[in-house]
Amino acid sequence: MTSLFPEQTYDVVVAGAGNAALCAAITAASDGARVLVLEAAPREYRGGNSRHTRNFRLAHDAATQTLTGPYPVDEYWDDLMRVTGGETDTDLARFTLEESARLPDWLAEQGVRFQAALGGTLSLGRTNAFYLGGGKALLNTLYRAAERLGVTIAYDAAVTALEIEDGHFLAATVTQGDAPQRVEARAFIAASGGFEANIDWLREYWGEAADNFIVRGTPYNKGAVLKLLLDADVQPVGDPKQCHAVAIDGRAPKFDGGIVTRRDCVPFGIVVNREAKRFYDEGEDFWPKRYAIWGRLVAAEPGQTGYAIIDEKSIRSFMPSVFPPEKAASIAELACKLDLDPARLEATVSVFNAACRPGSFDPTIYDDCRTEGLDPPKSHWARPIDTPPFYGYMLRPGITFTYLGLRVDRQARMIMADGRPAANMFAAGEIMAGNILGKGYLAGIGMTIGSVFGRLAGKEAARNARN
Ligand SMILES: Cc1cc2nc3c(=O)[nH]c(=O)nc-3n(C[C@H](O)[C@H](O)[C@H](O)COP(=O)(O)OP(=O)(O)OC[C@H]3O[C@@H](n4cnc5c(N)ncnc54)[C@H](O)[C@@H]3O)c2cc1C
Repeated sequence: MTSLFPEQTYDVVVAGAGNAALCAAITAASDGARVLVLEAAPREYRGGNSRHTRNFRLAHDAATQTLTGPYPVDEYWDDLMRVTGGETDTDLARFTLEESARLPDWLAEQGVRFQAALGGTLSLGRTNAFYLGGGKALLNTLYRAAERLGVTIAYDAAVTALEIEDGHFLAATVTQGDAPQRVEARAFIAASGGFEANIDWLREYWGEAADNFIVRGTPYNKGAVLKLLLDADVQPVGDPKQCHAVAIDGRAPKFDGGIVTRRDCVPFGIVVNREAKRFYDEGEDFWPKRYAIWGRLVAAEPGQTGYAIIDEKSIRSFMPSVFPPEKAASIAELACKLDLDPARLEATVSVFNAACRPGSFDPTIYDDCRTEGLDPPKSHWARPIDTPPFYGYMLRPGITFTYLGLRVDRQARMIMADGRPAANMFAAGEIMAGNILGKGYLAGIGMTIGSVFGRLAGKEAARNARN
């Protein structure tokens, strides 16, 4: 059997090869460390969830060539506090937001390019930098940068065991086929994502509902390294039931459907459950601050299904869908196509329509189009659904990533159960995002956390390996 890696000992071993891992590997190698990256996926599936991304959120004091205006740290901070309800490690969160401002220059040094700000319903042109060519182009560039620096990348190389003694990493075991291979290192970085693709593990918290979850990203993020580290007494962080989950098209594939299966029409109409009843305020806040709770909302409804209902007025107001919507001349006909009770859906729509107060519809501000006397209310962007044809999408919970992770400190060092920092183990990305995201989500902060902590973990692991 050929060896997956040319040497038996490295300065730094990184588990995973998504954005966080590559930022870590590049930084550690730039600081002189001999780095091995172990990626569970085959080469053609490399890049984890990061390859599906389009942008990251960053603080900046003025408009740039690709960002339409300033987004100061304090505003970023207020946004984060609003979505997390303050459930965050404030020290790590502040550090992340401040460091986000340095990312464009660092990424540009690696060869990453950005595209002009996007308009549209996501309203991210001021706050988020979009990678030219998307996440795949970003990753290909980072892989090239890592390879130029001499980083060894092993594919089909899932980490299946870790030798850890009292918070001190000694070696990792990689299993390919039946043949385990052992590699030692002076420092270890866990950047292997969450456990969102592990339905059995999700079932522990969500029960049978987990069987109806659709995994938006890579099937390889099964949380094996996370589990090994928790078993080795690294302190957990984050609520196991909290996750980033969006409402996606019920026809999406079970894994790796990516961005095009997300349904962004929620603020423009209503969402009902299998009983044709509304269950949440569709106009509570702007979509970038709310889209990530809709997966969990749908997950809590019977059969883990929801149905977005809109009319002709709204069909061109959101990102076009890869699957065509059901289309009908009447609400009753639409209900039949969606397998809903026609009389009930008609009743729900007419009660909603009657509750809509007249206002000036404007999806770019908190407008005054709201309902009155309706429970749950629709607080903004409420317009009667009265213009045929009518459209509907069946929705499912689409899980993006989980928040249960590893507690880390300002050096990205793992914290052990007894509160001491681990000797030589660091973490970056989804696997530690729960330190910052106690709940909720802010579009683009996943990549920010991965890049900031990836760079930090790489620097600290290289320093650790030198000493
Ligand atoms: C469809 C979609 C769109 C998204 N869009 C955005 C966006 O535009 N902006 C944003 O900020 N965030 C976005 N996110 C979230 C974002 O993808 C994550 O926050 C980010 O990619 C996490 O990076 P990471 O490096 O921690 O994990 P990943 O990129 O998922 O990398 C983890 C890697 O670890 C590997 N791995 C897993 N287990 C093992 C093991 N046992 N041994 C070895 N390797 C292992 C996996 O194969 C994978 O390559 C999106 C997610 C999805 C699914």
